[in-house]
Amino acid sequence: MRLTRREFALGVAGFGLAGCLPGGGAIPQVARPDPELEPGLRPQPNPAYDQWVAAFKTRAMSQGITQGTLDRAFRGQGFLPGVIERDRNQTEFNRTLEDYIAIVAPEEKVAFGRTAYARQRSALARVEEQYGVPAEIMASFWGVESYFGTKRGKIPVISATSTLAWEGRRGRFFESNLMDALRIVQTGDARPDQLVGSWAGAMGHTQLIPNAYQENAVDFDGDGKRDIWSENPIDAFATTARFVSRAGWKRGAPWGLEVRLPQGYSGPTGRKNRAAVSRFRDLGVRTAQGGSLPDHGSAAVLAPMGVGKPAFLVFHNFNMIMRYNPSENYALAVGYLADRLAGAGPLVGDFGRDKYGLSQEERKALQRGLTRAGFDAGTPDGVFGKKTEAAIRAYQAAKGLAVSGEPSRALLDALG
Ligand code: CA
Repeated sequence: MRLTRREFALGVAGFGLAGCLPGGGAIPQVARPDPELEPGLRPQPNPAYDQWVAAFKTRAMSQGITQGTLDRAFRGQGFLPGVIERDRNQTEFNRTLEDYIAIVAPEEKVAFGRTAYARQRSALARVEEQYGVPAEIMASFWGVESYFGTKRGKIPVISATSTLAWEGRRGRFFESNLMDALRIVQTGDARPDQLVGSWAGAMGHTQLIPNAYQENAVDFDGDGKRDIWSENPIDAFATTARFVSRAGWKRGAPWGLEVRLPQGYSGPTGRKNRAAVSRFRDLGVRTAQGGSLPDHGSAAVLAPMGVGKPAFLVFHNFNMIMRYNPSENYALAVGYLADRLAGAGPLVGDFGRDKYGLSQEERKALQRGLTRAGFDAGTPDGVFGKKTEAAIRAYQAAKGLAVSGEPSRALLDALG
């Protein structure tokens, strides 16, 4: 699996299964558009998509999917323009590491996560014992993917994967996932109405795409079902651990750690520029706390926002996290949150000021100031998205200023 599987924009969150009937039974379960979903995430007319679906169904039947499965799975499903929009705007690739961590691992989430982690610790220990993936790494996937099970997404998977398969940018990948979603329905692992998740078809506590489910799903608690959809996350933990283990996770080795680069560091950086830890030691790289670097084999220095801002030494297992999502920011956030869940403190390095000359605290103050002045800037998280930009524009227009939508120190001072 090489692609992202989930909704990072945090805009489409909630309990996917709320209100559905227990058990399979004889009652036909029809996927109904959730009234809380925005219009772009409810089926829209699109004759070209309908044509594609008709042709797809023929291909599906040639691969053993029955007419009955197709009828049940596609009932109430359709073209979702909103998922195409999301596919083109993936947070983990478009954000700086500082913003990305502020979005997926803010302090209040670390605190919430430590409680959730404590509750699942014995289950996670059993999964770790079997697959060798540390409990805190699995808990971190759980946190980043679904806010510890509380935000699993509620976009219908058949609609989402068929829309993206039709759209075609990664058509084969999504068609393959659509096919596996139909197999899930056909084998009875889940009912069509249970198949809800992110914009990219990722489901459950750890946001598994249908391909990953088919290849790795485990009935870890032994209740006879490979169930990543229930409230109990243990099968999802085991399935994710199996995925990461098969990718090549090295038991007993860390993902990496935060480091301190010497001033003016000009040694190798970037994931492709690997070297022995002894080389980085010789170049003056230390742990963030100032200690000697641990040696877990060949490593790379990552300084995603430049030398002088937080930097990391990453080992083999970092690349195994990236198999879950091929974004360095994603893998750094998973490693960082895992460490925090296990008791570590915040990053030692300072992200400093952004291109507007503002620190994260100043960006938060600016957001609070805008909201206080009557221009809703959204959650004061220090991350400037569309809502903050709109608030700045509205403020600038109301004050007769040039409308740029961009933050500045002058704006912060005016609102302070
Ligand atoms: Ca089970």
